[in-house]
Amino acid sequence: MSLQASRILSGLHPWLAARVRWLGEVATLYGSGQTLISGTRTITEQGRLYDFQGNRPAAYPGCSQHQYGFAVDATYLPIVQITSKGKPFIWTPAETTSAMNNAARHVGLTVVANDDGHYQVFPGIQFREYIVAVGLCPQNPPPPLWNIAEVQASNDAYRDCLLAASRSNRLLGADSPSFSCPQPCGPLFNRLC
Ligand SMILES: [Zn+2]
Repeated sequence: MSLQASRILSGLHPWLAARVRWLGEVATLYGSGQTLISGTRTITEQGRLYDFQGNRPAAYPGCSQHQYGFAVDATYLPIVQITSKGKPFIWTPAETTSAMNNAARHVGLTVVANDDGHYQVFPGIQFREYIVAVGLCPQNPPPPLWNIAEVQASNDAYRDCLLAASRSNRLLGADSPSFSCPQPCGPLFNRLC
């Protein structure tokens, strides 16, 4: 595994990291390969991406699951299938994406339309409602070229709480009896706490 991949995996919530590792194994079995592009982002990184608004427009700082360890961006090499005659048959990028998306859904990840290779823990609408309700994400985000100081101040109250929750392994359905949910985390995190 590349240094970049281990660094990205170690920053993700363990529930997500385990599934992303598994997707990497699936890709290998398919004769493809997984490259991890982006995992957990700081508010500054998210702000840069939001301002950039490239071919994958990013959410306003505070609004992205990427900031809390709940999302990852991956790319996959085309799947190579060996036919019954022993010849390699190379899938199109769209077919490869579709196969990997199915694998991701199979292990409970949320796949987002028009954002190939982006996998997240929570359904987008559910997460957005929560993140707006707790004041981490504005209902109507301002256009790009935002004021980082303003955003940072409004986020401070909840950021630590969310990061602590995102580091728990409750989503794995396992044993972290010592972990108590920081307040005020709110209803979304009942799934974790
Ligand atoms: Zn993403």
